[in-house]
Amino acid sequence: MKKIAVAPLLSSSWFGYRNVKIVRGDLLHPIVSGNKLFKLAPLIERIESQNIHSILSVGGRYSNHLHALAFVAKEYGLPSVGIVQGYPDQELTPTLKDCQRWGMVLHWVNKVEFQKRYEPEFWLKWQEKYPNSEVVLEGGWSESSIKGSQQWWSGIPSDTDLVVTAVGSGTTLAGLALAAPKHVKVVGIPVFQDPDNYSALKQKMIQAGVSQDQYELWSGFAGKKFGKPSLEQAEFSKTFYKDNRIKLDTVYNSKVFHAVQTKLDQDKSLLSQQIAVLHTGGLQGNRK
Ligand SMILES: *Cc1c(COP(=O)(O)O)cnc(C)c1O
Repeated sequence: MKKIAVAPLLSSSWFGYRNVKIVRGDLLHPIVSGNKLFKLAPLIERIESQNIHSILSVGGRYSNHLHALAFVAKEYGLPSVGIVQGYPDQELTPTLKDCQRWGMVLHWVNKVEFQKRYEPEFWLKWQEKYPNSEVVLEGGWSESSIKGSQQWWSGIPSDTDLVVTAVGSGTTLAGLALAAPKHVKVVGIPVFQDPDNYSALKQKMIQAGVSQDQYELWSGFAGKKFGKPSLEQAEFSKTFYKDNRIKLDTVYNSKVFHAVQTKLDQDKSLLSQQIAVLHTGGLQGNRK
């Protein structure tokens, strides 16, 4: 039975830019962050149709992913476990307080251990402790999540020439690119820095079956580091709210919308294109 009601994906205009539409993933669900809802959709289907006994996953202290997953698990009455980067004596973030309130059991790992989360060995001891648990990778990088992310196209206006999204794990970008109509250009904006020119990300895209001519990266908009916007990005976000009455999260969308505005100011040819920018949600992570 469906227990998570997803609102239709709407779009609205950006004040001052008649050619830019904001695709409102932030409005898909009051609690589950937009982009995570699409990624978790295939898992939710499996929960509904198969025997999933419990869920095991990993994330940071402000993780939209763990937050979404804990809520989904609660709605379906499933036990869930979250492995978090941090220390047990640190005060819980509002994100983790929600997770705990929804029944998620939290365990802590340090930074070095956390960096191993994409290796199968990371999971061995946790799977031993929680046998029969479904492991959900952070960022949801998986074939099913990439497929789920194709649902963004349900809300992207049909006259769009160029669509822009934040890039964390790249799942959303891969889903968008794989389902894009031929004439639409797909652009990803990495919110983390990579001295290696995003070669790992590009490699992942190839693995997902996305060829290099199916998307473009606009780099240079990662701010101070993952989770830390530049002063300019933070200021931009305030002005954007005043103009549009739409809140942006600090980790992803402040950087993305600021990047789009910067590009529009630099390259006037963009003003004649129909641009859709995905608002991927994430506002729960703004709470301190
Ligand atoms: C996870 C997340 C992203 C990043 O999406 P990927 O598919 O991992 O690249 C973007 N925005 C928000 C709000 C997120 O929570």
